Amino acid sequence: MNPIVEQLLRLQRLDTDIRALGHDLQQIPKKSKLIDDKVRAVRDPLDRALQEKADLEQARSDQEAAIKSLEDKERQLKLKMPEIRSNEEYSALLREMDATKRERDKTEERSLKAMERLEALEVELPPLEDAYKKGEEGVAADRAALKSEQEHISAELLAKQKERGLLQAEMKPAWFKKYTHIAAQRNGLAVAAVKGGTCQGCFIGVRPKLVQDLHYGEDVVSCEGCQRILYLDDAGRTP
Ligand SMILES: [Zn+2]
Repeated sequence: MNPIVEQLLRLQRLDTDIRALGHDLQQIPKKSKLIDDKVRAVRDPLDRALQEKADLEQARSDQEAAIKSLEDKERQLKLKMPEIRSNEEYSALLREMDATKRERDKTEERSLKAMERLEALEVELPPLEDAYKKGEEGVAADRAALKSEQEHISAELLAKQKERGLLQAEMKPAWFKKYTHIAAQRNGLAVAAVKGGTCQGCFIGVRPKLVQDLHYGEDVVSCEGCQRILYLDDAGRTP
Protein backbone atom coordinates (compact mmCIF):
# COMPACT_ATOMS: atom_id res chain seq x y z
CA MET A 1 0.00 0.00 0.00
CA ASN A 2 1.10 3.54 -0.72
CA PRO A 3 2.70 4.90 2.49
CA ILE A 4 0.60 8.10 2.40
CA VAL A 5 -2.60 6.09 2.05
CA GLU A 6 -1.39 3.87 4.89
CA GLN A 7 -1.03 6.96 7.09
CA LEU A 8 -4.43 8.28 6.04
CA LEU A 9 -6.03 4.94 6.78
CA ARG A 10 -4.41 4.85 10.21
CA LEU A 11 -5.71 8.36 10.82
CA GLN A 12 -9.19 7.36 9.76
CA ARG A 13 -9.18 4.30 12.04
CA LEU A 14 -8.09 6.50 14.92
CA ASP A 15 -10.86 8.98 14.16
CA THR A 16 -13.43 6.19 14.02
CA ASP A 17 -12.23 4.92 17.40
CA ILE A 18 -12.20 8.44 18.86
CA ARG A 19 -15.77 9.04 17.68
CA ALA A 20 -16.93 5.73 19.19
CA LEU A 21 -15.18 6.46 22.49
CA GLY A 22 -16.68 9.95 22.56
CA HIS A 23 -20.10 8.42 22.07
CA ASP A 24 -19.46 5.93 24.90
CA LEU A 25 -18.40 8.79 27.14
CA GLN A 26 -21.64 10.64 26.36
CA GLN A 27 -23.61 7.65 27.64
CA ILE A 28 -22.07 7.92 31.11
CA PRO A 29 -24.38 10.67 32.45
CA LYS A 30 -27.43 8.73 31.19
CA LYS A 31 -26.20 5.59 32.96
CA SER A 32 -25.52 7.64 36.07
CA LYS A 33 -29.10 8.92 36.00
CA LEU A 34 -30.43 5.37 35.79
CA ILE A 35 -28.51 4.59 38.99
CA ASP A 36 -29.96 7.69 40.64
CA ASP A 37 -33.41 6.46 39.65
CA LYS A 38 -32.74 3.11 41.32
CA VAL A 39 -31.89 4.87 44.58
CA ARG A 40 -34.92 7.10 44.21
CA ALA A 41 -37.21 4.07 44.33
CA VAL A 42 -36.08 3.27 47.87
CA ARG A 43 -35.32 6.84 48.85
CA ASP A 44 -38.70 8.41 48.07
CA PRO A 45 -40.74 6.39 50.62
CA LEU A 46 -38.16 7.15 53.31
CA ASP A 47 -38.08 10.85 52.40
CA ARG A 48 -41.87 10.99 52.50
CA ALA A 49 -41.98 9.31 55.93
CA LEU A 50 -39.28 11.60 57.30
CA GLN A 51 -41.10 14.63 55.92
CA GLU A 52 -44.35 13.44 57.50
CA LYS A 53 -42.55 12.99 60.81
CA ALA A 54 -41.09 16.50 60.66
CA ASP A 55 -44.50 17.96 59.74
CA LEU A 56 -46.21 16.11 62.59
CA GLU A 57 -43.59 17.23 65.10
CA GLN A 58 -44.04 20.82 63.96
CA ALA A 59 -47.83 20.43 64.17
CA ARG A 60 -47.62 18.97 67.69
CA SER A 61 -45.41 21.80 68.83
CA ASP A 62 -47.91 24.32 67.39
CA GLN A 63 -50.82 22.45 68.98
CA GLU A 64 -49.17 22.38 72.39
CA ALA A 65 -48.58 26.13 72.20
CA ALA A 66 -52.22 26.62 71.16
CA ILE A 67 -53.47 24.43 74.03
CA LYS A 68 -51.40 26.41 76.50
CA SER A 69 -52.76 29.70 75.21
CA LEU A 70 -56.36 28.37 75.32
CA GLU A 71 -55.83 27.21 78.92
CA ASP A 72 -54.56 30.69 79.78
CA LYS A 73 -57.61 32.18 78.14
CA GLU A 74 -59.89 29.85 80.14
CA ARG A 75 -58.17 30.92 83.38
CA GLN A 76 -58.58 34.61 82.47
CA LEU A 77 -62.26 34.06 81.71
CA LYS A 78 -62.77 32.30 85.07
CA LEU A 79 -61.14 35.25 86.84
CA LYS A 80 -63.77 37.53 85.27
CA MET A 81 -66.60 35.58 86.96
CA PRO A 82 -66.71 37.55 90.23
CA GLU A 83 -66.90 40.82 88.29
CA ILE A 84 -70.09 39.80 86.41
CA ARG A 85 -73.01 42.15 87.14
CA SER A 86 -75.77 41.03 84.75
CA ASN A 87 -77.30 37.82 83.43
CA GLU A 88 -76.44 38.83 79.85
CA GLU A 89 -72.79 39.31 80.76
CA TYR A 90 -72.88 35.99 82.60
CA SER A 91 -74.36 34.10 79.61
CA ALA A 92 -71.87 35.76 77.24
CA LEU A 93 -68.97 34.75 79.49
CA LEU A 94 -70.26 31.17 79.75
CA ARG A 95 -70.58 31.00 75.97
CA GLU A 96 -67.04 32.23 75.52
CA MET A 97 -65.73 29.79 78.13
CA ASP A 98 -67.61 26.98 76.44
CA ALA A 99 -66.28 27.90 73.00
CA THR A 100 -62.72 28.12 74.32
CA LYS A 101 -63.00 24.71 75.96
CA ARG A 102 -64.42 23.18 72.78
CA GLU A 103 -61.53 24.61 70.80
CA ARG A 104 -59.06 23.25 73.36
CA ASP A 105 -60.73 19.80 73.21
CA LYS A 106 -60.48 19.79 69.42
CA THR A 107 -56.83 20.82 69.50
CA GLU A 108 -56.06 18.16 72.11
CA GLU A 109 -57.78 15.57 69.93
CA ARG A 110 -55.70 16.62 66.90
CA SER A 111 -52.56 16.56 69.01
CA LEU A 112 -53.38 13.05 70.21
CA LYS A 113 -53.92 11.86 66.63
CA ALA A 114 -50.60 13.39 65.61
CA MET A 115 -48.91 11.60 68.49
CA GLU A 116 -50.47 8.27 67.49
CA ARG A 117 -49.31 8.75 63.93
CA LEU A 118 -45.83 9.64 65.17
CA GLU A 119 -45.75 6.41 67.19
CA ALA A 120 -46.78 4.45 64.09
CA LEU A 121 -44.03 6.17 62.11
CA GLU A 122 -41.47 5.05 64.68
CA VAL A 123 -42.40 1.49 63.65
CA GLU A 124 -42.60 2.25 59.91
CA LEU A 125 -39.32 4.11 59.65
CA PRO A 126 -36.71 1.42 60.49
CA PRO A 127 -37.65 -0.93 57.59
CA LEU A 128 -37.68 2.05 55.21
CA GLU A 129 -34.26 3.05 56.48
CA ASP A 130 -33.00 -0.52 56.02
CA ALA A 131 -34.34 -0.67 52.45
CA TYR A 132 -32.68 2.63 51.63
CA LYS A 133 -29.40 1.52 53.15
CA LYS A 134 -29.48 -1.71 51.14
CA GLY A 135 -30.34 0.25 47.99
CA GLU A 136 -27.41 2.56 48.64
CA GLU A 137 -25.10 -0.43 49.00
CA GLY A 138 -26.26 -1.91 45.69
CA VAL A 139 -25.93 1.44 43.99
CA ALA A 140 -22.47 2.00 45.44
CA ALA A 141 -21.28 -1.04 43.47
CA ASP A 142 -22.99 0.26 40.30
CA ARG A 143 -21.46 3.70 40.77
CA ALA A 144 -17.98 2.26 41.28
CA ALA A 145 -18.38 0.17 38.11
CA LEU A 146 -19.57 3.19 36.12
CA LYS A 147 -16.72 5.32 37.44
CA SER A 148 -14.19 2.70 36.40
CA GLU A 149 -15.88 2.46 32.98
CA GLN A 150 -15.61 6.21 32.57
CA GLU A 151 -11.95 6.21 33.60
CA HIS A 152 -11.22 3.40 31.17
CA ILE A 153 -12.91 5.18 28.25
CA SER A 154 -11.27 8.50 29.11
CA ALA A 155 -7.82 6.92 29.27
CA GLU A 156 -8.35 5.15 25.96
CA LEU A 157 -9.66 8.32 24.36
CA LEU A 158 -6.67 10.27 25.60
CA ALA A 159 -4.28 7.63 24.25
CA LYS A 160 -5.97 7.65 20.82
CA GLN A 161 -5.93 11.44 20.70
CA LYS A 162 -2.26 11.45 21.58
CA GLU A 163 -1.56 8.86 18.89
CA ARG A 164 -3.51 10.98 16.42
CA GLY A 165 -1.44 14.04 17.33
CA LEU A 166 1.79 12.13 16.76
CA LEU A 167 0.52 10.80 13.45
CA GLN A 168 -0.53 14.25 12.33
CA ALA A 169 2.98 15.53 13.15
CA GLU A 170 4.43 12.80 10.93
CA MET A 171 2.12 13.58 8.03
CA LYS A 172 2.54 16.11 5.29
CA PRO A 173 0.14 18.96 6.14
CA ALA A 174 -1.34 18.95 2.64
CA TRP A 175 -2.49 15.33 3.01
CA PHE A 176 -3.84 15.96 6.47
CA LYS A 177 -5.78 18.93 5.13
CA LYS A 178 -7.12 16.93 2.20
CA TYR A 179 -8.18 14.12 4.54
CA THR A 180 -9.95 16.58 6.85
CA HIS A 181 -11.70 18.21 3.91
CA ILE A 182 -12.97 14.95 2.37
CA ALA A 183 -13.95 13.53 5.79
CA ALA A 184 -16.00 16.65 6.56
CA GLN A 185 -17.84 16.29 3.24
CA ARG A 186 -18.19 12.52 3.28
CA ASN A 187 -19.64 11.73 6.66
CA GLY A 188 -16.27 11.18 8.34
CA LEU A 189 -15.06 8.67 5.77
CA ALA A 190 -12.23 10.05 3.65
CA VAL A 191 -10.50 6.78 2.81
CA ALA A 192 -12.43 3.96 1.15
CA ALA A 193 -11.59 0.41 0.24
CA VAL A 194 -11.88 -0.97 -3.25
CA LYS A 195 -13.35 -4.45 -3.23
CA GLY A 196 -14.06 -6.44 -6.34
CA GLY A 197 -13.41 -3.33 -8.41
CA THR A 198 -15.99 -1.24 -6.51
CA CYS A 199 -15.41 1.76 -4.23
CA GLN A 200 -16.85 0.85 -0.81
CA GLY A 201 -17.54 4.53 -0.12
CA CYS A 202 -19.96 5.20 -2.98
CA PHE A 203 -20.31 1.72 -4.56
CA ILE A 204 -19.39 2.95 -7.97
CA GLY A 205 -17.10 0.83 -10.13
CA VAL A 206 -13.45 1.86 -10.23
CA ARG A 207 -11.81 1.92 -13.65
CA PRO A 208 -9.37 -1.02 -14.19
CA LYS A 209 -6.56 1.48 -14.84
CA LEU A 210 -7.03 2.95 -11.35
CA VAL A 211 -7.21 -0.53 -9.79
CA GLN A 212 -3.93 -1.27 -11.51
CA ASP A 213 -2.46 1.94 -10.07
CA LEU A 214 -3.62 0.84 -6.67
CA HIS A 215 -1.78 -2.45 -7.17
CA TYR A 216 1.46 -0.64 -7.87
CA GLY A 217 0.90 1.69 -4.93
CA GLU A 218 3.02 4.45 -6.38
CA ASP A 219 0.40 7.18 -6.44
CA VAL A 220 -2.46 8.17 -4.23
CA VAL A 221 -5.63 7.28 -6.12
CA SER A 222 -8.96 9.02 -5.57
CA CYS A 223 -12.40 7.64 -6.40
CA GLU A 224 -13.88 9.31 -9.45
CA GLY A 225 -17.34 8.95 -7.96
CA CYS A 226 -16.91 10.28 -4.41
CA GLN A 227 -13.37 11.75 -4.38
CA ARG A 228 -12.40 9.52 -1.45
CA ILE A 229 -8.84 8.27 -1.30
CA LEU A 230 -8.76 4.63 -2.27
CA TYR A 231 -6.88 1.56 -1.14
CA LEU A 232 -7.07 -1.95 -2.40
CA ASP A 233 -8.69 -4.43 -0.05
CA ASP A 234 -9.22 -7.85 -1.47
CA ALA A 235 -8.61 -9.55 1.86
CA GLY A 236 -11.93 -8.27 3.15
CA ARG A 237 -10.56 -5.58 5.42
CA THR A 238 -12.62 -2.43 5.82
CA PRO A 239 -11.50 0.82 7.40
ZN1 LIG B 1 -16.21 6.32 -4.28
